[in-house]
Formats: sequence, C-alpha cells, structure tokens
Amino acid sequence: MNNQVLEKTKKVSLPENLVFGKIFSEHFLEMNFDGAKGGWQKPEIKKLETITLHPAAMVFHYGQALFEGLKAFNTVDGRIALFRPEKNIERLNNSAARLCMPQVDPKLFLDKMLELVKLDQAWIPDRPGHSLYIRPFMIATEPCFGVRAADQYKFMIMLSPVGPYYPEGFKPVPIMVVDKYVRAVRRGTGEAKVAGNYAASLIGQVDAKHEGYTQVLWLDAIEQKYIEEVGAMNIFVRFKNEIATPQLGGSILPGVTRASVIQILKDWNFNITERSISIDEIVSSFDNNDLLEVFGSGTAAVISSVSKLKYHEKEMIFSETQAGELAIKLNDELTGIQYGKIPDRHNWLTYID
Ligand SMILES: *Cc1c(COP(=O)(O)O)cnc(C)c1O
Repeated sequence: MNNQVLEKTKKVSLPENLVFGKIFSEHFLEMNFDGAKGGWQKPEIKKLETITLHPAAMVFHYGQALFEGLKAFNTVDGRIALFRPEKNIERLNNSAARLCMPQVDPKLFLDKMLELVKLDQAWIPDRPGHSLYIRPFMIATEPCFGVRAADQYKFMIMLSPVGPYYPEGFKPVPIMVVDKYVRAVRRGTGEAKVAGNYAASLIGQVDAKHEGYTQVLWLDAIEQKYIEEVGAMNIFVRFKNEIATPQLGGSILPGVTRASVIQILKDWNFNITERSISIDEIVSSFDNNDLLEVFGSGTAAVISSVSKLKYHEKEMIFSETQAGELAIKLNDELTGIQYGKIPDRHNWLTYID
C-alpha cells in the first residue's frame, strides 16, 4: 500500500532547451489490472520509480502496448487547462478494444489525470510555447508464453515538461513519401494508437532521414496510391479551392488535432473535405500551380508546415524558409485557444479547479 502523503513540488528548475520526452515529473499514476482479482485495482499516484516486470510479461513477447499523448497548459489567466482530454480517453479505450486489453473507466481516468497534473503543476514550464506533455499508456504484464490476450495489465500516466516544437520559430519541414514499406492497413491497427505501429514505421523514418527528410508521408497499404498520414501527424493539403485531408478509413489515426483543425476550418467557412487524395493528384496539382500548401497536425507540434515533398524522383518545393499561410493561421488559432488567449468557443479546454 501507498501511505505516503504526496507533496506538491514547489519549484522546478528546467534546462533552457527541453528535448522532447527526456525529463519526467516527480510523480506518476499506476493502476494494475488482474482478471483473477476482479479487474482493476486501486489506482495509485506515487513518486516516479522503476517498475519491475517478469521477463515473460506478455508485452515483451506479443506486444500488447498502447499509449496516448495530450498536453496541459498554463493559460494566460493563471489557470491550468487540458486540451480535449475526453477525446484521448475515448481513443485509448478504442485502442484497448482493438488489442483485447481492458477498458479504463473514463471518469476515473480523467479524475486521476487531473489529480496528477495538479500535484505536479510546478512542472508546467512558465515560458511561451511550453506545456506539460501527458502520456497515458497500458501494457500486458502477465507472465506467460501462451499466445492469447493477457489477464494482467498495468495502466500508467506520466508527465513530461516540453518546449515549443520549433524553438527557432515556425519552420517548415521536408517530407519524403515512402512506398517501399507500409505503416498500416485497413482493419489492421492503423486507427489504434498502439506501440506496434511505431515499431513498424521506424524503418521508413530511417530511410527518410538518410535522404535528408525529417518525416515520412505514408501511402495506403493496398495500392500505395493514396496519402494517409505523416509519422505521428495527420496531413492536410490545401488546393486552390479546397482543403482536403484523407478520410478516416481504419488505417489512419483519428487525431484530436485533426478533428480540431477540421472544426476551425468549418468555423472559418473554408471548403474542407475528407476524401481520398492520391499522390498523383498531388503531383499534378503541384505542376498546375493548384497546390498551395501542405501541413501536418498532431499534439506534439500542433501544426507542421511542409517545406518540400519528395516522391520518387519528383521534388515538390513549397518554401524552404517560410511556413504556409494557412498553417501559421491555424497554429496561432489552436495555440491561442490552448493558452486561453482567444475564446474557447467549442469548450475544448478542461480546467483544473
Ligand atoms: C498520435 C498520432 C497522430 C496525431 O494525433 P493527435 O491526437 O492529433 O495528437 C497522428 N498519427 C499517428 C500515427 C499518431 O500516433
């Protein structure tokens, strides 16, 4: 049992340059599941410590592992807000269902997450563009070599202070279309936020880096014809008279940022569509000067403008120095809402107290 009284950290001194995900806050949440003991046990918030697992823990062998990522912000009026946490809670449970892992009670999940952030609020850096990244995750812990869904799990939430994704300002990034490998297939696990998807996609990232590109744009697994998403971001393509993003069809992660971008574009009366976009359409639109900009969306970077897109021998350059106009506008709008600088007209923020 955990009888220690946890004290709020008073002051934290953080390095100037925060490398993403390398520094962790003082506490974490741990909750174990044991089917033989009736399911979930009492959640505990405690000092961050090493966990010990049996070498036969099923996560090591059959990969039942999933995660989420969201952020808490110090808002301009001195409060703490989480951005659309209910979406991440819902998505974690969808991912859990796909991997035959247990559901986490949404209310308990939210309450405990808020309690943890409140306790470790000193870890939210009070600097522009900074936030506290929240990482809920779950793994199978039952020791067994049998191939089946495990009967024991560990659900955890960790916190990590993060700086702005682009410390030198909003810079566009070069992206390479990869068709030598695929990331995810419809009815597979592409729409679930699971560790295995990342293990399978690292090789594309390595190839792209090798050629001087920061990220990979994945194509559909069946025909390698339609664009799907970028690394850990969804993708948007701005044509002259339309902004399009691939429709969710089972292989694409339903991003919370994606959904928010679509809503904001609707609010602004843009012609935003969710549809199949072939890489050939992108190439021909680029050649016809119909393609204005391309950008990615995700919790970590919020909006990421694309400087150039490489597909086979074709290099489509938008601007290597200047981020796209709409990408900048959307980034300002989303971060403006997150830091409480502009009205939260869709009630996306959940405040702590
Ligand atoms: C997490 C993730 C995204 C972005 O989702 P957000 O909820 O916007 O952070 C996009 N694609 C993949 C593969 C992801 O894992």
